[in-house]
Amino acid sequence: MNNKINAYNSVLELVGNTPIIKLNKITDGLKGNFYAKVEAFNPGHSAKDRIALHIINTAEQRGILKPGATIVETTSGNTGFSLAMISMIKGYKCILAVSDKSSPDKIDMLKSMGAKVYVCPASVAADDPRSYYEVAKRIHEETPNSIYINQYFNELNIEAHYQTTGKEIWEQTNGLVTHVVICSGTGGTISGVGKYLKEKNPAIKILGVDAYGSVLKKYHETKIFDENEIYSYKIEGLGKNLIPTATDFDIIDQYVKVTDKESALVAREISRAEGIFVGYTSGAAFQAVRQYAELGEFNENSNVVVIFPDHGSRYMSKIYSDEWMQEQGFLEIENQDEIEKIVV
Ligand code: PMP
Repeated sequence: MNNKINAYNSVLELVGNTPIIKLNKITDGLKGNFYAKVEAFNPGHSAKDRIALHIINTAEQRGILKPGATIVETTSGNTGFSLAMISMIKGYKCILAVSDKSSPDKIDMLKSMGAKVYVCPASVAADDPRSYYEVAKRIHEETPNSIYINQYFNELNIEAHYQTTGKEIWEQTNGLVTHVVICSGTGGTISGVGKYLKEKNPAIKILGVDAYGSVLKKYHETKIFDENEIYSYKIEGLGKNLIPTATDFDIIDQYVKVTDKESALVAREISRAEGIFVGYTSGAAFQAVRQYAELGEFNENSNVVVIFPDHGSRYMSKIYSDEWMQEQGFLEIENQDEIEKIVV
């Protein structure tokens, strides 16, 4: 017996190398084999750990980040949490400018990881000096030894997923993967994974997921930025009202759009049927799998990998709250009775 203690040096060593898990029940009636890459296994419970770590490590290697430096970003979501976690471990300050639409729970989560949070009005235009974009830019400009992550326009976002997520999917499937289905927000995940897999085997289909209310699908098909596509919707992290340069549209074969309601119901179904507690966009991703199946995309020999981007615990007051679901009109009373029957 050796007397060494098998410990990780910090949670940073646990970023990436997430498992892929066969989906067994929600796939009823679909042709093919379906596997989820479950990003909630990252220490910060989402795929954003990968980009946060890669961007910070790269800035260190380039000599931009020195001890005591400050990391600045504009999100209350998963990226903010990952940046705060990594900054704390590495000894950097983390400042996040977020909109006052962010829930108090989310702001408290960021603070619990040591971030300083500026809450900015959501009601002002992006170029207003009070907007969270402008506040973040100003903090970055005025703070020496700081970096602005800017995930929607940072090519390292794609590179992080090219070097890790894409490679892992290829290796975990022994090259047998035929399709991936991936949510598109910044586009970093789908573009990085897509680039890696297409280099290995150009026949692999890179299938995107967009939201109703977002411009990405239309832009992919027409190269036109159509403002008429934009309206408000509930799913956080999916789709966008601008064209991110962190999306490589040429790598993506096709997009489908999914609704708030179906995505929420499917996320709840995944949790109950598979025992994998997933976030809202995981529901969106599997809803897209069903839509692609209807379009005839898969056959018996298809090996489909779908990415589940984050953990369900972030959505307790939303998709996992029956009250919230009813307020949105997503859960009818009959459904509620059904749920109670299952629970009993
Ligand atoms: N799901 C969630 C919960 C997210 O926060 C994001 C990031 N915006 C995505 C999916 C999409 O990932 P990406 O930004 O890499 O396109």
